[in-house]
Amino acid sequence: MSRKLRLMIPGPTPMPPQVAEAMARPMVGHRSKGFAEFTAKLHAKLQQVLQTKNEVLILTCSGTGGLEAAVANTVNPGDKVLALVAGKFGERFRDLARVFGAEVLELAFPWGMPVDLETVRAALKAHPDVKLVLATQNETSTGVLHDIRGLGELCRDHGAVLAVDAVSGLGGVDLPADAWGVDILVTATQKALMTPPGLAMISLSPKAWALVGECRSPRYYFSLEAAKKAHAKWNTAFTPAVSLFFALDAALDLILAEGLEAVFARHRLLGTAAREGVKALGLELLPPEEAASPLLTAVKGPEGVKVDDLRKLLLDKYGVLFAGGQSELKGKIFRIAHMGYVDRVDVITALGALEMALSELGCKVALGGGVAAAQKVFLGGVKQ
Ligand SMILES: *Cc1c(COP(=O)(O)O)cnc(C)c1O
Repeated sequence: MSRKLRLMIPGPTPMPPQVAEAMARPMVGHRSKGFAEFTAKLHAKLQQVLQTKNEVLILTCSGTGGLEAAVANTVNPGDKVLALVAGKFGERFRDLARVFGAEVLELAFPWGMPVDLETVRAALKAHPDVKLVLATQNETSTGVLHDIRGLGELCRDHGAVLAVDAVSGLGGVDLPADAWGVDILVTATQKALMTPPGLAMISLSPKAWALVGECRSPRYYFSLEAAKKAHAKWNTAFTPAVSLFFALDAALDLILAEGLEAVFARHRLLGTAAREGVKALGLELLPPEEAASPLLTAVKGPEGVKVDDLRKLLLDKYGVLFAGGQSELKGKIFRIAHMGYVDRVDVITALGALEMALSELGCKVALGGGVAAAQKVFLGGVKQ
């Protein structure tokens, strides 16, 4: 028998049965009237979940393609771009701006810490010609949730365009894009949105569209003007991943039926429980708790245990897949994702398996201690 797999990595995330069912639907013509009608309805749902009145363009590519589209359509060689880097995905956005010839001003923060707004304010003041600011909402490599609302205010005051990588956070934590002044919002299907990998979504404010008009950087597949032109007819410039459109639609239906506020509250609860559970086992969290993401918990590897051995045992023996650390955090942390199609029992399962694996690797853990701490959160004993 193949092992039952419990996917607890930050993407791809588990797929609800309704989404799997939608994936299996027969193909339709992507230029058909029926598909255009379907796309129009899907778009209305996307605007609700992305909390924007701007057009949401769907690109058939992974999240990074969405980030590349953001840069390729707005950055001219020599433009001054402020990149906020506090992890692997911040680095990626920065690297993209460099590839497109921007003069990148990098503000680096320790991995595991949130972006410091005062540092950003000072940098914007010192460099009034910064045109674009690149930020990450949920830094998946460190488990930190950054303050996009605060950055939105700073960028508005400065007159800079704010581009936000919300690939892993959107659909799990609140990000009212228009209200918070997010000019370019990028997200993708395979994280909190509970859909298999393969689609990126991008929306631009009028201020960001003005940059697109002035942009001379080469782009073809990722031309947002081409995407916008097709979108006006509820179409796409190139053949879309039709099955993923169906899947995304089913996932958005689930999110909207639960209600955005309820979805966010569920993730907050799961995040609190996961952190309380891990702490009860004597393990240390990577980020300070007030900056910890409700969607994934980054934990420092315990003394005397190789994180990769722990992850291997969890997977081979218990079918539980946690993520490891990336780049400079490789071998130092493991990450438990609780985003998307997840509930209380999933967190209990993760903690219960973790306790057994730690114990087997020779760590002194009180069996049941992490589980009990999480249960207390669920039964209302610990304030969130
Ligand atoms: C997953 C992720 C991406 C995109 O990665 P792809 O593999 O290209 O989908 C970008 N940013 C963040 C924060 C992510 O978590």
